Amino acid sequence: MARLVMKFGGTSVADLDRIRNVARHVKREVEAGHDVAVVVSAMAGVTNQLVAWCREAAMLHDAREYDAVVATGEEVSAGLLAIVLEGMGVNARSWRGWQLPILTDGAHGAARIIEINGAELIRRFKEMKQVAVIAGFQGLHKESGRVTTLGRGGSDTSAVAVAAAIGAERCDIYTDVDGVYTTDPRVVETARRLDKIAYEEMLELASLGAKVMQVRSVELGMVHKVHVFVRSSFERPEDIDPHKAPSGTLICDESEIMEQQIVTGIAFSKDEAQISIRRVQDKPGVAAAIFGPLADANINVDMIVQNVSSDGATTDLTFTVPSSDYERARVTLEKASGKIGYQRLDGATDVAKVSVIGIGMRSHAGVAAQAFKALSEQKINILAITTSEIKFSVLIDAAQSDLAVRTLHSLYGLDKA
Ligand code: ADP
Ligand code: ASP
Ligand code: MG
Repeated sequence: MARLVMKFGGTSVADLDRIRNVARHVKREVEAGHDVAVVVSAMAGVTNQLVAWCREAAMLHDAREYDAVVATGEEVSAGLLAIVLEGMGVNARSWRGWQLPILTDGAHGAARIIEINGAELIRRFKEMKQVAVIAGFQGLHKESGRVTTLGRGGSDTSAVAVAAAIGAERCDIYTDVDGVYTTDPRVVETARRLDKIAYEEMLELASLGAKVMQVRSVELGMVHKVHVFVRSSFERPEDIDPHKAPSGTLICDESEIMEQQIVTGIAFSKDEAQISIRRVQDKPGVAAAIFGPLADANINVDMIVQNVSSDGATTDLTFTVPSSDYERARVTLEKASGKIGYQRLDGATDVAKVSVIGIGMRSHAGVAAQAFKALSEQKINILAITTSEIKFSVLIDAAQSDLAVRTLHSLYGLDKA
């Protein structure tokens, strides 16, 4: 009999009917003889509401109190699921982050898990076959003893971390789609479900915009070699044949994937902003003068393009930051303008980043070149490009983002038959 982690996202626990459906999924695994730890998200929309209330209370607020507020959503759904399970005759107990405990660092709002004590859960599996229902997204700061949260989408990370802590055979991520697709199936209807995807590819997909898994959860899965399986919570538990392999996507080591495609998937993000610094002095130390203050302000700079200097003295420099940091980045650069020395600062938030990902790119040249040609045929102008071993990204006008994703999706033969 296996130990399993089952994680259910917000839409899967959106109301009591859905929580009952989740409970039937849990019961199904318990009846199959498995020891189960469940990780739940807050009911759909709840975290957004809690975040909005914090902002409304005070635009600038203490991150420790933000965490105290936003962590509560998961506590409600964990308690409710435990009640429903008990009502169905399944022995279950809910757990908050501090009770296990799930210990984290002190980065409130984006904390990292340091350690989880799985011993008590395992004892309860053995002695009383008790299902653990764990509130996702939250932990306890190891030093201060205060509640922390793991960043938006963080219940995925809670689930994978619990799976590592209890040595689970599999971590099932139940969500509102039945697996990981070649691109967001809500945007491109020809997207195809993948049977397997390598950790590294999933990591790129997630960090470049596919929100199906939180980035950190994929990192953890890779480090601890957790088999993460993405599947649908909307499939009726009664329709699942326990003797057949379930349908979904396995995130695993690349060596477990027999036939590796050149391109596996396409991600996109509209949460990008572009900043151009015009006529900046073209001399040593200028990049440090620009990116140093941004790094000090904790602003992540992504794509960087420096034009060739036309007059030998000045140049233009363009880069992207997350759109949520756009205003802060502008203010930071304006403050540092004396040191940097530039003529003008331009910016835009109506840009999108489209990325093509595939381990096969390591051994195939010319993959990006095909994309540039296909995009130009669609009259899509590329504002910036970045490449790395298994992916490349282009920055384009946000209005053309869907067209670009579709164009690239069919270019690389990803459309379903
Ligand atoms: P949950 O609430 O269960 O955590 P999320 O909303 O965080 O679910 O993630 C699931 C969503 O991710 C899907 O509804 C889908 O629109 C989106 N998504 C983006 N890219 C992909 C992809 N490549 N494959 C599957 N889903 C994707
Ligand atoms: N409830 C949290 C969020 O909406 C965490 C999660 O659902 O994974 O971000
Ligand atoms: Mg999610």
